[in-house]
Amino acid sequence: FQGTTHADLGLVVQGGLYNTLIRALQQFDLSDAFGVSRLSILVLNVTYPLVPAELTNFCKGKTAVLLLEEGQPEYIEQELALMLRRLDLQTPVHGKDMLPSGGEYTAEVMADGLLKFLDKHRPSAIPESSRNWLQSNVQRRKQVQAMLGAPIPARPPSMCVGCPERPVFSALKLAQETVGPVHVSGDIGCHALATFEPFSVGHSILGYGMSLASRAGVSPLMKRRVLSVMGDGGFWHNGLLTGVQSALFNGDDAVLLIFKNGYTSATGTQDIINTPSEADKDASPDKRQSLAHTSKVIEATLEGLGVKWLRTVHTYEVAHMQATLTEAFTTDFQGLKVIVAEGECQLERQRRIKPWLAQLKASGQRALRVKYGVDEDVCNGDHACIRLSGCPTLTLKDNPDPLKVDPVATVIDGCVGCGLCGENAHAATLCPSFYRAEIVQNPKLTERLFGRLQQAITRFLQPA
Ligand code: SF4
Ligand code: SF4
Repeated sequence: FQGTTHADLGLVVQGGLYNTLIRALQQFDLSDAFGVSRLSILVLNVTYPLVPAELTNFCKGKTAVLLLEEGQPEYIEQELALMLRRLDLQTPVHGKDMLPSGGEYTAEVMADGLLKFLDKHRPSAIPESSRNWLQSNVQRRKQVQAMLGAPIPARPPSMCVGCPERPVFSALKLAQETVGPVHVSGDIGCHALATFEPFSVGHSILGYGMSLASRAGVSPLMKRRVLSVMGDGGFWHNGLLTGVQSALFNGDDAVLLIFKNGYTSATGTQDIINTPSEADKDASPDKRQSLAHTSKVIEATLEGLGVKWLRTVHTYEVAHMQATLTEAFTTDFQGLKVIVAEGECQLERQRRIKPWLAQLKASGQRALRVKYGVDEDVCNGDHACIRLSGCPTLTLKDNPDPLKVDPVATVIDGCVGCGLCGENAHAATLCPSFYRAEIVQNPKLTERLFGRLQQAITRFLQPA
């Protein structure tokens, strides 16, 4: 993009960082939200191989260029410096001298780098308000640190609350107790978060949609069948051809689990071929329901290609998923076995559910929310449920019993009522501590009367 007022100053940015760069430029009033920038920008949507002519032409005649490259070593910066040197172009190139060598390039981090760049080459382009904004952030951070006293514990990355993919890893953990440990070939997507605690599942990740193809290299060395995990985004992107087609052609004895959540979720939920249609979403009377089952295009494609062993399992049915995984690992069937784990992305569902419930509530209609909880008098504080679930809203609190020291499990606000913790308690025969609560807003008259009757009976049965 050619800059509008400072075209002689250039910014070279990796494609994935472009939106954040625009946000950072907005802090200097150097761009609008639609990307009309006062500085020239070259966006590298492909970072390897680089096209020398494209980069050198962009740098030619510029007063200076800032390269925004996340990660280190600074491969692009080194290559760019070499390209310019070969052509004897003297355009100053900045990069890691003005930006951090590691860590995430947030809008604030980029703004800090832009400030250094502009200070050196165009101080007149910096509004005083931008300097103040950056300085006030530093001050605010110091104030918050002083208020907290000690740093808050770091929270490892995890799947969203109520994610339909989490139950599958609970089921896999349980299945391995009978089958034994299996090699898991992971993939790019939200499910890659299962490599963290409490699942620690995924021995290798090669690339988007590559889990089944890359498994071919390790399968012959393994005692048990290898499990390849793939999202539906990865399946359509690459896995169908490099993985499924190759495994069928070669007659591989492989197990593939496809997360059919309906979207390319990890990048913000973009639609794909098997995304539930808008008509199905509008027609659904209960917006809480997963609509992943409304598209059968993955199953039809697999059958059309010749997959003979195919199972579709709703992800929240932990015991069913555990049994299906066990069957896939132990069956006499030789050849590709595919499990389609069906459950719509919770992020998308919540985007639908929240406005729907708010609208029901506002218009005086009955609105039902489901939440799960733990009976603190029954919980023995062994935390097996937490090790099996990893849900961020299933956490700990002090034990109300003064004679017990172990904290008990508790469900905090934010629970979306997916039911996984209850399912796990059932599938792994953990404990009877979990309960399911239905919160009814704008209840019907009969519900009010029934509720009062329940309360009266409970009071009567309670010890004085
Ligand atoms: S975006 Fe969707 S699939 Fe990804 S972690 Fe969140 S709920 Fe799960
Ligand atoms: S039902 Fe359990 S697993 Fe699901 S969101 Fe609530 S606490 Fe988390």
